[in-house]
Amino acid sequence: MKTAIYPGSFDPITLGHINIIKRAAQAFDKVIVCVMVNSKKNGGLFTPEERIALMRKSMNVENVEFDVSYDLVAEYAKAKGSRVLVKGLRVVSDFEQEVQMAMINSKVNPELDTVFFPSDEKYTYLSSTVVKELARYHANLDEFLPREIIEDVKNKLELRSDDCDGSRQH
Ligand code: ADP
Repeated sequence: MKTAIYPGSFDPITLGHINIIKRAAQAFDKVIVCVMVNSKKNGGLFTPEERIALMRKSMNVENVEFDVSYDLVAEYAKAKGSRVLVKGLRVVSDFEQEVQMAMINSKVNPELDTVFFPSDEKYTYLSSTVVKELARYHANLDEFLPREIIEDVKNKLELRSDDCDGSRQH
């Protein structure tokens, strides 16, 4: 059975991620979408568990699982018996960083390879960061986020801005 790992922050999952997951699920027997916690992006809007809950709410594909890992992705893949990482490639700037990561990962785990899926043209400029920025300005998110989680993202950002206001008063 060919299992692929799709690692990322997914803070939150976007329609761009879902597009990659569905395509990977057609190419592999099983896809594990894994929230990697020890990445450069610390903190984040949602906790890893909340991110998984949003993913579950957004999609239900038989051969797709969701998980969280605090390990190096290369070690995580080994533990799951997977030899393939899936990555989405948006603009050219993704390419340089992703190829570098692919080389590092295969140094850590020589059995591991990385497969790139080009972004659907609708989502080439879409990232979780862009979505959060748009949500802060109350922009329409229908084209970027799965319908099921739009309110969750808006509510979370409102809670966050309340927190900030509160801390300013002390
Ligand atoms: P971001 O915070 O930039 O959305 P993530 O770390 O959550 O990024 O992304 C995980 C993986 O998904 C990466 O391989 C990234 O290149 C890919 N990805 C993110 N957004 C898109 C998109 N709109 N189209 C294709 N791939 C994407």
